[in-house]
Amino acid sequence: MTKINLTDLTIRKAHEAMKTGDFSARELTQTYLNKITEVNPNLNAYLHLFDGALKQADEADKRFKDGTAELLTGIPMAIKNNICIKGEITTAASKILENYRAIYDATVIEKLRKAGAVFLGGTNMDEFAMGGSTENSAYGVTKNPYDDTRVSGGSSGGSVVAVAMDGSLASLGTDTGGSIRQPSSFCGTVGLKTTYGRVSRYGAIAMGSSLDQIGPVTKNVADAEIIFDCIKGDDDMDSTTIPENLIKELKVKEKMTIGIPRHFMKEGIDEDVMKNFDESIEKLKSLGHVIKDIEIPNIDYALATYYIIMPAEVSTNLSRFDGVRFGLYKDGGENLLQDYMKTRAEGFGPEARRRIILGTYVLSAGYYDAYYDKATALREVMKKDFTKAFEEVDIILTPTAPTPAFKIGEKSDDPVQMYLSDIFTVSANMVGVPALAVPSGFTERDSKQLPLGIQFMAPWMGENILFEIGKDFLGEK
Ligand code: GLN
Repeated sequence: MTKINLTDLTIRKAHEAMKTGDFSARELTQTYLNKITEVNPNLNAYLHLFDGALKQADEADKRFKDGTAELLTGIPMAIKNNICIKGEITTAASKILENYRAIYDATVIEKLRKAGAVFLGGTNMDEFAMGGSTENSAYGVTKNPYDDTRVSGGSSGGSVVAVAMDGSLASLGTDTGGSIRQPSSFCGTVGLKTTYGRVSRYGAIAMGSSLDQIGPVTKNVADAEIIFDCIKGDDDMDSTTIPENLIKELKVKEKMTIGIPRHFMKEGIDEDVMKNFDESIEKLKSLGHVIKDIEIPNIDYALATYYIIMPAEVSTNLSRFDGVRFGLYKDGGENLLQDYMKTRAEGFGPEARRRIILGTYVLSAGYYDAYYDKATALREVMKKDFTKAFEEVDIILTPTAPTPAFKIGEKSDDPVQMYLSDIFTVSANMVGVPALAVPSGFTERDSKQLPLGIQFMAPWMGENILFEIGKDFLGEK
């Protein structure tokens, strides 16, 4: 066997190597498992490893022998622990689901399984995907591989670090307001949030159902496209998926017009982030793309309205965790209601409780009209703003996050500061457009190099445009 160089590996390279027999799927999986044993105890990207990985790798090797291998056959992947894999512990990093084993495969898992992917383990995350640093996990923080005194970002911190530390070739995360893209920016990976409805949510533990999407985290754009092609599609089990006959892929232009909403980049953005952003614009210009200043008038409201709509949906979705149907059960109350209260008080962490309270408040009589209704109306206005912007430009560009990775504990006492970290990412979820985060360079902090990222947003169903511009930017073409 040739020594496997994990740093350099991509899905396509691994596929070619397994096809020509340079190494087997079992050897590849074993190499990743060894790497995980070495680095995971410190970084805490994985919550647990699955039993079946080597067996799945052997199955993959058979497919290479009999000529039925596909691009993802034998590719080791990490799965965010809010995506159900039959028989595996799926906690969403919450104590309330400690030891809960999923009883079915999520649709995305079913599809990846069919393609022959190997599932290495379940990754750490903010509890129920609520957070931007993976500090809200009930099972400890996931550290940043570039500086382990810093956060990985979140909520898909584990899935992103799994890839960044060479503990998996690719992974799945979920993105409700930026949870794939913001940690990708902090750890130098590529992350895709798909058009709402292009990927089935069936089997993903719901956070905000009108915002959630499952998507890939990878080392380059081509790999993100390979995974997207596998997991996308209409699904009878998720009525919000877009029917196949309504999908019209957009025309990809060689040279694109890229819109910059400068008015949205006023305060609170790190200087080095802005400098890197301007350099990225210059690079895009030198590649022949046209840069244009645009206005998205109501984008300023995206964060505030997100933090009304999302908790409203959270409070509804989390009501199913009552101690009776799933996971943790604390009895000893005087009646059933008290048992519910005991279970939920003990099972949910502070951020989950905060959002349940906020969500219940904005949905209650009297406040519904004042908050939830207004936020929903504004959401429609924002959709119109985006539609209008996309009449002028092919792509909208922003930084992915306003700062590089921050220190562990730095924002834990101030939830509003933490929420500001989503300023550039939430609008794509609010209006449903696809967005791709790609690495754009580094900045130095405490003599360590920290990754930075930029985000491309395309019109609804414009994933193909994102892949094109992303590959161009990263020199993958
Ligand atoms: N950080 C955002 C939040 O806390 C986004 C979370 C997500 O996308 N799951 O809500």
